[in-house]
Amino acid sequence: MKIGFIGLGNMGAPMARNLAAAGHEVSGFDPAAADVDGVTPATGAAEAVAGADVVITMLPNGQILKSVAAQVIPAMKPGAILCDCSTVDVDSAREVAAQAAAAGLGSLDAPVSGGIGGAAAGTLTFMAGGSDDAFATVRPLFEIMGQKAVHCGEAGAGQAAKICNNMILGATMVATCEAFALAQKLDLDAQKLFDVVSTSSGSSWSTNAYCPVPGVGPKSPADNGYRPGFAAELMLKDLRLSQQAATSVDADTPMGQLATELYTSFVETEDGRGRDFSAMLPRLAARGRNAG
Ligand code: NAD
Repeated sequence: MKIGFIGLGNMGAPMARNLAAAGHEVSGFDPAAADVDGVTPATGAAEAVAGADVVITMLPNGQILKSVAAQVIPAMKPGAILCDCSTVDVDSAREVAAQAAAAGLGSLDAPVSGGIGGAAAGTLTFMAGGSDDAFATVRPLFEIMGQKAVHCGEAGAGQAAKICNNMILGATMVATCEAFALAQKLDLDAQKLFDVVSTSSGSSWSTNAYCPVPGVGPKSPADNGYRPGFAAELMLKDLRLSQQAATSVDADTPMGQLATELYTSFVETEDGRGRDFSAMLPRLAARGRNAG
C-alpha cells in the first residue's frame, strides 16, 4: 500500500519504520523529526498524503489532529482512509470522522496501548472506531504495527475504549501503590504481599505485570529508578480525557476523578513529571494520613 504518515515522534517513527520494513511505500512528515529508516521524507503534510491509500496520524492532541486533518483531507485521494492513532478526546475524533466522510474518505480512530516498546517491537494493541470497510482495509497494517486490533464500534469508539481502559489503569495503580505503602508501615514484607495479591482477588496488571515496588515482581520501571515506562504526565493526559468525556455525557466517575486529581498534583506541583506513573508509590509512602 501507499501510506502517508504524519507525526514521526516517539511512537510514530517506529510505527512508520515497521510499515516500511514490511514493504509498504511510506511517505512521512513531521516538522520536528529526524529521518526514519525506509520512510520518504515529505516537505509538508499535503505532500506526504498525496496518492496514499491510507494516511496515519500520530500526534500529541485533538487540537493538532484537527489542524492536520484540515490540511490533509483536501489533499487525499477519493476513497482513501484517514486513520488517527493518537490519543485524543472523543469529540475531536468524531469531528474529524465527519469531515473525512463529507470529503468522500473513510476514517478510523485507532489509539494504541503498548507504549514506545510496543511501537518498536510491532506489538501494539489497536482499538478502533469506524466502519467495517475502513477497519478491514487498515487491519493488515495494524497486524504489522501490533499484535491485536479490536474493532470497538463506530467513530469515537476506539478513543472511548482507550480512555476507559486508562481510567481503570490510573485508579488501579493508585490503589496498588497505596496498598504497598500501607503494607510497608504495617511491617508487612512487600514480596509477601505481592505473592498474596498477585494470586488473589486484589490482583491486576498494576501488581502482576508492573509492580511499583523495586525488586518485586517482573522487571518494571520501579527497578530502574522509576524512569518511564509510561510517564506520569501521559497518564494524566489520558485521565483528563476520561474526565472530559465523562463530563460531556454526565457520567459519574468518582475514582477516575480522584486519580486525575492525584496525578495532577504529582505532575504539576510535586516531582512526578518525567517519572513513571508507578512512582505514585514513593510519593504515597513518604506521606502521612493527613498530608492533603
Ligand atoms: P511525541 O510528542 O513524541 O510525537 C508527536 C509528534 O507529532 C512530534 O514529533 C511532533 O513534532 C509531531 N507534530 C506536532 N504537530 C505536528 C503537525 N502539525 N504536523 C505533523 N507533525 C506534528 O508523542 P508520542 O509519544 O509519539 O505520542 C503520540 C500520541 O500517541 C499521543 O497522542 C500519545 O498520547 C499517544 N500514546 C503515546 C504513548 C507513549 O508511551 N508515548 C502510548 C500510547 C499512546
